[in-house]
This record gives sequence, C-alpha cells and structure tokens, in this order.
Amino acid sequence: MFSRLLIANRGEIALRIIRAARELGVKPVCVYSEADRDGWWLKHADETVCIGPGPSVDSYLRIDRIISAAEIANVDAIHPGYGFLAENAHFAEVCRDCHIEFIGPSPEAMARLGDKITCKKMARAAKTPTFPGSDGAIEDEDEAMEVAASIGYPVIVKASAGGGGRGMRIAHNEAALRSSLTAARQEAAAAFGNGAVYIEKFLENARHVEVQVLGDKHGHAVHLYDRDCSSQRRHQKLIEEAPAPGIDPKKRDAVARSAADLIRRAEYAGAATVEFLMDAEQNFYMLEVNTRVQVEHPVTEMVTGIDIVQASIRVAAGEPLPFKQRDIKLNGHALECRINAEDPDRGFTPQPGPVDRFIPPGGLGVRLDTHAHTGYRIPPHYDSMIGKLIVHAPTRPEAIQRMRGALDEFEIGPIKTTIPLHRRVMDQPLFVDANYDIHYIERMLASE
Ligand code: ADP
Repeated sequence: MFSRLLIANRGEIALRIIRAARELGVKPVCVYSEADRDGWWLKHADETVCIGPGPSVDSYLRIDRIISAAEIANVDAIHPGYGFLAENAHFAEVCRDCHIEFIGPSPEAMARLGDKITCKKMARAAKTPTFPGSDGAIEDEDEAMEVAASIGYPVIVKASAGGGGRGMRIAHNEAALRSSLTAARQEAAAAFGNGAVYIEKFLENARHVEVQVLGDKHGHAVHLYDRDCSSQRRHQKLIEEAPAPGIDPKKRDAVARSAADLIRRAEYAGAATVEFLMDAEQNFYMLEVNTRVQVEHPVTEMVTGIDIVQASIRVAAGEPLPFKQRDIKLNGHALECRINAEDPDRGFTPQPGPVDRFIPPGGLGVRLDTHAHTGYRIPPHYDSMIGKLIVHAPTRPEAIQRMRGALDEFEIGPIKTTIPLHRRVMDQPLFVDANYDIHYIERMLASE
C-alpha cells in the first residue's frame, strides 16, 4: 500500500478521499488554491501545498504545479477525484513518467474508452448494447445519408472526441443532417483538435441508467449494479438512485455483466461507469464510459456496502479485487440529492458567498458528504455543488420518506440552494412512481 497520497482536488471529494486514505493507513496530502485557503477539509490532511490563485486554470488544472507539489510532499500516488484533471490522459501519463501512481486507469485505457468511436467498437465486441448507427467515423455525406436512412430519423451527430455535452447535433431530416454534419465536423476540429464524427439514432424520452464497474490490474472486473440518474436539468444530474427502479432482473444482470466485460477488455484498473440511455421497453444503449469515480458513487456504496474510493486506491496499489461478482449483493434502496448553491427561482444562478447557518440532517440511514459548514464562504471559482445528501432504506418508498425528513431538517442560509427543489421533487408523482425520463424535471420547472 502507498504511504502518502496527494489529492488533486477540493471540497467534498477531497474530504471523501481523505477519509478513505486514513482508513487504509495512507497519509493524505492536499493541494489547494488561494481561494480554498480556509477549506475545512485541509485540516484533515497531513500536509497541504498551495498551488496558485483561485481560478482553476491557475491551480487545480495546472499539471506542472500539482506534480511539483507531489514531489515536494514526496507522495507515491495521486488521486484526481472527479472533474479537473480526472479524465486527462496526458496527466495520467505525466504521473507515470514521474513514477507516481495515478489512481485510475492507465493513460492507454483512458484514451481507448475516452474516444467515443473506439469505445463503441469495443462495446460491440463485449456485447454491451450500443445505439444503432455508423460503425466508425463518417467519411462523407453519402455515407451519412445511407446510415440515417437505415436507422431512421431523428439521428444525432456526435464528435468522437466530444465531452461535456459539446459537439452534438440532432437532425430530423436529410437537409438538417447535411448542415449538421459540416457544422459538427468544424466544431469538433476546433474544440477538440479531432474532426471525426459519427451518427447514431436519437432516442427521445429515455431514462439515464448507468453501471458502476471496478477493475484491477490482474484482469478482473466486477460490476456493482446500476443507478438511475434521470433527474437532470440541462444534462446536469440532480438526483441519483440505486438500484435503478423497475428494471427486469434478467436484463439488469445482462447489461451489468456486459459493462464489466467491456472494462475487462479495456484492461482497466479502477472505478469506471458505463452510461446508458434506456427506452420504455427497457432496451439499453451505451452513451459513454466515464473513467473516474463519479459524484453519485455513494448511492452504490450504500446498497452494496463496498467503499468504492478505497477499492480504487487498493487496485492502484496492485492489490487484486477482494471480491468476486457473486459476492456483490444489493441491499435496499439509496437516493442522493445534490445540494447546489444555486437559486432555482432565478435560473439556477450560482450563489457564492458566506454561509451563516448550516444545520445538517441526521439519523439512521442518512449520510451527508460535504465540506460546507456554518462560517464557510463559497468561492466563486468552482462548481456550485456544496454537498450530497444520501439516504438508505430497505425500500424505495421508505428511502423517499427518509429523504423528505432529511431535507426538512437541513437548513442552509442565507444563500439559496437546491433543497426546496428537492423537496418538491420528492412529492412529484412522476418521481414517486419512477415514471420518469431525463426531461421530467425541466417539464416540472416549466409548468410551475
Ligand atoms: P458528453 O460526453 O458530451 O456528456 P454523452 O454521449 O454522454 O456526451 O451525451 C450527453 C447527453 O446527450 C446525454 O446524457 C443525452 O441526454 C444526450 N444524448 C447523447 N446521445 C444521445 C442519443 N443517441 N439519443 C438521445 N440523447 C442523446
């Protein structure tokens, strides 16, 4: 096992990694920006190193400064968390060149799965269900028209190197496809330095279901079942739950196993998430693979009892996965509400500034992963998520009831947060009955 681990991140995920490291007897080291100087999580690190001013381009995204900090602190591993450099294959490569273990996949595995066309080809080989569409990059307009005619409109043009919702265009007919193709290529070349695009069927009214996978360096991979993340606004997840409700058990098993098979074939060590859209007939179509720990990993931890962050540190240190697929059992239901410092009544504008009142909820089956507290000042430079409220209960209705109570107990002020929005969703029949798709929150907001 490592002796010292540098955390190249901030906030709740830095704290989450500190806790996992401590339990493994690994000493955590934190980097921080000047804006995070008073961050409470830093008090729990063995050592802290300032890496620059508040804006992340000058601090948390600076590979040179993070590597210098790692060398000064003499660590043997780096955990990137999520966001920032977590899916940057170049960073993983620099870590390797500097003989520092990157906690995550090898740069090669990251690049294989990060390129959407390569990933889709590998998924087909692993029998992971993918969208109908082109087999690889679209070479010319004729090919695009042929593919679209065979799968039927609407179709979506996507950049192989795309991410963060950029480089995608929906086309409902031939004329739209012609213009989308040219625009998508130019946009992809400019934004990602790679103009390759492909076409797939565009699915309306789907649910977002994803499978958590863990792989090790000895050729093993297991899945930890699925999560539903259909509660979104502008492609940003707001509420996640595990397991995904109402899925046929045989289908669940087959999809989850195929996701684990894909990760095994990619020779991937660490935590990965295979994301799918699911239609009303419970057909699955792979969207992409996220090559890092996800914000919503706690709901899976609650229903499987597995510490995903610890497991990823262990496999990075070369240990084989300590469990087999048959050892993984689902227990009860978990929900997570993202607590964002945003004003839902004013277009979700971020709410940086002082937190004068912070009264956390508690009780059986209630978990709060947060770095916020009374007296915390939310800096303006980063993501607005200041915490994750997670509940676990024997059944989904009981989990919803427990979440209602926890949200009622939770007080944060004077800044506005997403807590009132979550309270409304917990009473929404579409959510309560799990009769939802990825657009239901936006429809709910539009009708209010
Ligand atoms: P990115 O890497 O940019 O996040 P994804 O492939 O994950 O791209 O897609 C982002 C979002 O775009 C999805 O969550 C989904 O809402 C929408 N989307 C992508 N592909 C399709 C598709 N084939 N049909 C319907 N919606 C899609």
